This record gives sequence, structure tokens and C-alpha cells, in this order.
Amino acid sequence: MKTNGRGPREFKCPTCGRPAEYDGRYFPFCCERCKLVDLGRWFNQEYGIPAEEDQGEEEAPRKPDECA
Ligand SMILES: [Zn+2]
Repeated sequence: MKTNGRGPREFKCPTCGRPAEYDGRYFPFCCERCKLVDLGRWFNQEYGIPAEEDQGEEEAPRKPDECA
């Protein structure tokens, strides 16, 4: 007996959501482009978060409604 079709071997590409081949070259991504896109996101997140928070904390604005 063989189980064809859907199985544990199917994987969804984290970048575009399309099915990626388990034995594929770029697993778990469906293609090289998706793999690069995901790596780029990781990079941007690590460097982007601290910089953005620093800028927002400088003024520390309070709600005018609560003051009055
Ligand atoms: Zn993809």
C-alpha cells in the first residue's frame, strides 16, 4: 500500500506560502528567492528594532488628556 498525495513530506514555504518540496534544494523554501527574502527579513529585524525604539523614547510624550 502506498499513500500518495498529501503527506508529511509537504511543506509550506514560509515566505510565500506555496508548497515546497521536502527534498528541494532550498527547503524549507520553494525557491532561492524566497530563501533570500527570509534571510533579509531576519537581518533587518535584528538591526531595525533597537534603532526605532531609541527614536521614540527620546521625547516620551504623555497624553495631554490625562494631564488636564
Ligand atoms: Zn516561496
